[in-house]
Amino acid sequence: MTSNDDRVPENRYESPRAWRDVDDYFSRALVPEDDALVAARESGARTTMPNAEVAANQGALLGLITRISGARRVLEFGTLAGYSTIWFARAVGPEGRVVTLELEEDNARVARENLDRAGVSSQVSVVVGPAADSAATLIAQGEPPFDLVFIDADKPSNPIYLDAALRLTGTGAVIIIDNVVRNGAVTATDSDDPRVRGVQAVTQAIAAHPELDATALQTVGVKGWDGLIVARRR
Ligand code: SAM
Repeated sequence: MTSNDDRVPENRYESPRAWRDVDDYFSRALVPEDDALVAARESGARTTMPNAEVAANQGALLGLITRISGARRVLEFGTLAGYSTIWFARAVGPEGRVVTLELEEDNARVARENLDRAGVSSQVSVVVGPAADSAATLIAQGEPPFDLVFIDADKPSNPIYLDAALRLTGTGAVIIIDNVVRNGAVTATDSDDPRVRGVQAVTQAIAAHPELDATALQTVGVKGWDGLIVARRR
């Protein structure tokens, strides 16, 4: 990132007007949120991490990837208010299943309200506790394989979550990791930010894994400058 480039924000959560306008243009045209999604987004203000849910067009992308891949079972690390969870639950359909892992009971309570309002509660299990422990329990219980895993919790733990995802998926599974660009900080090899280091470590782990095909995309928009990794298990 160049400091004299006035199109690029210094702060991860800053978002130039043009980026927001383009997101608004496409979201209004292609991704109309219904009342349940609007309520879920707005209720983020009652969680421990306001404004940390994916943008509407990103939620729609997650739903489309779920449908395109034919995923019926989704595992999510990081529920917050259940905004992305609703997109997954609608995409897997009434016969599908979403297990979403959340640290904070208060956030889980807000999420359950939103899942109820969206009419998808019967397809979703919200599991409260540290996601590494919850995932270990799923592994120990012999949980059937998931078709898609979305990693969007605490970023320093990304490598742990990837490892758990690999234990909980089989051939053809899709793994998506959010917030991997971090306003460009991902390229700072000397970064002492544990979130950046978590992204770098998981990127290296994916690169070294013989069964994973992957790419990463930068995104700009209402959530600033960030991006996601999409991987598929051979
Ligand atoms: N996926 C959500 C969405 O797009 O609507 C946003 C998730 S938000 C970025 C991250 C969530 O991970 C927060 O709700 C936070 O409480 C949760 N979290 C943080 N550390 C965690 C941990 N160790 N185990 C489980 N959840 C954790």
